[in-house]
Amino acid sequence: MASDFARLPLPPAQLANLQALGYERMTPIQAASLPLSLAGHDLIAQAKTGSGKTAAFGLPLLARLEVRRFAVQALVLCPTRELADQVAGELRRLARAEDNVKVLTLCGGSPIQPQLASLAHGAHLVVGTPGRVLDHLSRGSLDLGALNTLVLDEADRMLDMGFADDIKEVLRHCPAQRQTLLFSATYPEGVQALATRFMRQPKTVTLSEKT
Ligand code: ADP
Ligand code: MG
Repeated sequence: MASDFARLPLPPAQLANLQALGYERMTPIQAASLPLSLAGHDLIAQAKTGSGKTAAFGLPLLARLEVRRFAVQALVLCPTRELADQVAGELRRLARAEDNVKVLTLCGGSPIQPQLASLAHGAHLVVGTPGRVLDHLSRGSLDLGALNTLVLDEADRMLDMGFADDIKEVLRHCPAQRQTLLFSATYPEGVQALATRFMRQPKTVTLSEKT
């Protein structure tokens, strides 16, 4: 049986990769958001942990990735190192559709020197926590000039952790011409304010809770 993902405008290599990963059916958040995000829309998606968010933002950013261009083309901001590591691991699995996609994590609480060395070698995708990503932007060790996708993952949690100012500062370093994808389990005022200020005519996807 053909995979559910086959009706999406995804490269054949990615469809084969998803099949190899055992992804047959889209999760509800993937089914609701991927047609919009793959069409290039900014997106606000209300989705909780374990709903398959990483592929929901990973597939569009990977579909756009130019592997031959060795520059950071997508940035995913996450609240914690644990979540950043999970996202990076999942992105690496999804990136197997292409050869040699370099995914780098930049999180606080890790020594800065190895991160500086890794950045000097270059990366296609960066996953990190807002404070440390901003640190690298301020030092000039991270350049987002070639960025085309910005993801705010678990935005409500990032704001709860006091990252609002850091996120706004990171956003100032991002090119205006980009796709912004925001994922949040809840949609409090602070998250709405971020979306209003930094997103362009975002589509909203909310899944009704059925438990
Ligand atoms: P979230 O970020 O929403 O907590 P993840 O993106 O980490 O969730 O996905 C949770 C788990 O489900 C991961 O192990 C991932 O590999 C798996 N997964 C995601 N989408 C699918 C799918 N369509 N089919 C099968 N497994 C999936
Ligand atoms: Mg996640």
